[in-house]
Amino acid sequence: MQSKLVNVSPRSVLTIDLGALRQNYITLKTKVGSAQCAAVIKANGYGLGAIHVAQALRQEDCEIFFVASLEEAVTLRDAGLQETLYVFDGLTPKTGPYFRQYHLRPVLNSMAQFSEWCEENLKNTEALILAALHVDTGMNRLGVTYGEAERFAEDYNLSSASQKLPIMHVMSHLACADDSHHEMNIKQYEQFENITKLFPNTLKSLSNSAGIFLGSNFHFDLVRPGISLYGGRAQIGSRNPMQPVVKLESQILQIRECQVGETIGYGATQTFTRPTTVATIGLGYADGYFRCLSVSNQYTGGYVAIHGKRAPILGRVSMDLVGIDITDVKDGSVTVGDYVEVLGSHIGIDDVADWAGTIGYEVLTNLGGRYTRIYK
Ligand SMILES: *Cc1c(COP(=O)(O)O)cnc(C)c1O
Repeated sequence: MQSKLVNVSPRSVLTIDLGALRQNYITLKTKVGSAQCAAVIKANGYGLGAIHVAQALRQEDCEIFFVASLEEAVTLRDAGLQETLYVFDGLTPKTGPYFRQYHLRPVLNSMAQFSEWCEENLKNTEALILAALHVDTGMNRLGVTYGEAERFAEDYNLSSASQKLPIMHVMSHLACADDSHHEMNIKQYEQFENITKLFPNTLKSLSNSAGIFLGSNFHFDLVRPGISLYGGRAQIGSRNPMQPVVKLESQILQIRECQVGETIGYGATQTFTRPTTVATIGLGYADGYFRCLSVSNQYTGGYVAIHGKRAPILGRVSMDLVGIDITDVKDGSVTVGDYVEVLGSHIGIDDVADWAGTIGYEVLTNLGGRYTRIYK
C-alpha cells in the first residue's frame, strides 16, 4: 500500500533489500558451480513482490523461474517478465491454450496431464508447449509415480511422435532436506538417480534451497531455491549463510507507565509484577503478525528490537496494536514516533517463526498488505 500522505511517517514500513536478494542468489549460484540456478517466486515471491524479485534476479542472469499457479504466471507475463517460467501445478484441464499463449511451461504431474499435453501439442506443432516432468519420490503430493515414469519413458523414448515433444527437465522434490541427517534424503536421491537413467537426454532437477546444502551430488543440472533467496533458514541446526532481505519497522503510537497488579490487553492475560513502561506499536494480526506471539502469565511470546536490544511483547496481539515492554531498553531516549524493529538484523524471520511455532516461509508469506513497502 503506497501512501498519498505527504510528510506523514508511515505506521509500518517494510523494506525489501533487493541487493541482499541478489547477493543471496550469487551465494547459491557459486555453491552449485556448473549447475544452473533457477528462482522460485511462487506466492508473489514469498510475499515480497514476485515482479520486483524477478527483475532483480534477472540482473544476475537468472533465466528460469518457477511459480505455483497459472494465475501467478500470467500476472508475471503481464508485468513484463519474459524469462522461462514453469508452473508447478502443471497442465490442469483447459489451461493448454494459456500455456501456449503466454509461453509458459507446465510441470506435468500425472499421466492425465501428460496425455493432455501431448494432445495439445499435436494440435499445434508450430508452437509447442515445452514442459518438465515431475516424478514423485516420497512427498506424495504431486508428480507421477516411479512406475508411471517407467512406462512414460518407454513410450516417450520409443514413439516417434512423442519423441518430438519437448520434455526439458525431469524433476522431483525433497521432503526432509532441512534435516541433513534424515534418511529420506538418500532414499529420494537414489530413486531420483534411477529416474535419471530413464531419461538420459533430459536435464535433471531435484533440490530446493535445503537440498543445495546437502552436497554437490544433489545439484544435478538445475536447482530450485526459494526460501534461501529471501534470507530464510533452509537447514535446521546449522548457521544460515544468507543475508536478511526483509526489514519491518513499526511506529510507537503511545508510551505509558503501568503499576504492579495492573493487566494489559484483551483477556487481561498478563499481570505486571514490576513497574513497567509500555510502548504500544501500530502492528497487529491484521498485518500478518501472528496472534500466537501473545504473552500471558504462563507463556512467553515474541520480541521486537529497539536500538538493537530485544524487548518482549506484552499481553495479547490485537488486530492493529501490540504492547511491548520497553522498561529495560528505554534509556530515557525512546519516544512516541520512534520505530521498533519487528523483523531485520536483530530479529530474524526464523526467530519469529520459532517463537510462533512455525517456519520462516509462513512469516514471509503472511506479511500484510497494510505496510508501506520500500524496495532498495
Ligand atoms: C516451493 C518449492 C521449491 C522451493 O523451495 P524452498 O524450500 O523455498 O527452497 C522448490 N521446488 C518445489 C517443487 C517447490 O514446491
